[in-house]
Amino acid sequence: MPIPRITETLRPDASGLARAAALVRAGDLVAFPTETVYGLGGDATDDLAVARIFAAKDRPRFNPLIAHVADVAAAQRLVVWSDLADRLAAAFWPGPMTLVLPLRADAGVSALVTADLPTLAVRVPAHPAALALLDAVGRPIAAPSANPSGRISPTSAAHVLAGLSGRIAAVLDGGPCAVGLESTILGLTPDLVLLRAGGVPSEALANVLGYSLTLHQGSAITAPGQLASHYAPDARVRLDALTPHAGEVMLGFGPVPGTLTLSATGDLTEAAAHLFRHLHALDAMSPQGIAVAPIPETGLGRAINDRLRRAAAPRN
Ligand code: AMP
Ligand code: MG
Repeated sequence: MPIPRITETLRPDASGLARAAALVRAGDLVAFPTETVYGLGGDATDDLAVARIFAAKDRPRFNPLIAHVADVAAAQRLVVWSDLADRLAAAFWPGPMTLVLPLRADAGVSALVTADLPTLAVRVPAHPAALALLDAVGRPIAAPSANPSGRISPTSAAHVLAGLSGRIAAVLDGGPCAVGLESTILGLTPDLVLLRAGGVPSEALANVLGYSLTLHQGSAITAPGQLASHYAPDARVRLDALTPHAGEVMLGFGPVPGTLTLSATGDLTEAAAHLFRHLHALDAMSPQGIAVAPIPETGLGRAINDRLRRAAAPRN
């Protein structure tokens, strides 16, 4: 269980920003203002920090998160850049536009940020406190909206505290959010598609592109995280196993030992942090199957089990 803690309220001055940056660099969670809504920020390069984001929000599923960066150069270190990305960034960054681009092999971003997809969503937010924090942290910050799963997105520090007080290290209070709308999400992987309408109006996009985009059909936003094929290792996955069968490798948890273990102490946040990495490592052993220890269906266990059930689902 997470240890209850007092959530600090920090001012976006030099000492508040230094404190917020130190917390993020140490793997703690800090809610921070953007021009859209308050984000629940964690070090995007730290598996455990990103697992803590899902735990704090009590999300039942690992959906991909947006990596916030300070500028175009920082984005280019994470994703495969393109001329079109350059034009869009020049027009709308900093601002409420998110670009989904192919993930670079050397990005160093946690697989929990991308939900193990080969693409990454990046954005430069237009809020001085967010930019100052990104600058001070010097790493990409993964951030969904700073509210418990299923609740309304927060547009003030008071909203953040109402939902997450005691569950995060700090909130950086930058006053109310100006836009209050989510970011527009464009996919460039490589075809250009509008994945979500948002803070950048379609007329402004059409002005830059020279043509209009219509919303991509078939809920492309949620689809990536729900495609069984994205989640399936090559090996057959068998759930709720206590011992491996012949030819199987074992993913352990708590008292059930394994070839690799998600968490020997039964810590679900640690288990989430290891999930994708261990599945890849076990799959790379080319076993006949991967046997997985039972994971409790509580807290982050729900998101872990959701992911494992997809991995175990029959293939098309
Ligand atoms: P929010 O944090 O509420 O602005 O939501 C982020 C949105 O970006 C979610 O709807 C995600 O599904 C979407 N998203 C993030 N990364 C990707 C990606 N790699 N591919 C497609 N959609 C993504
Ligand atoms: Mg949200």
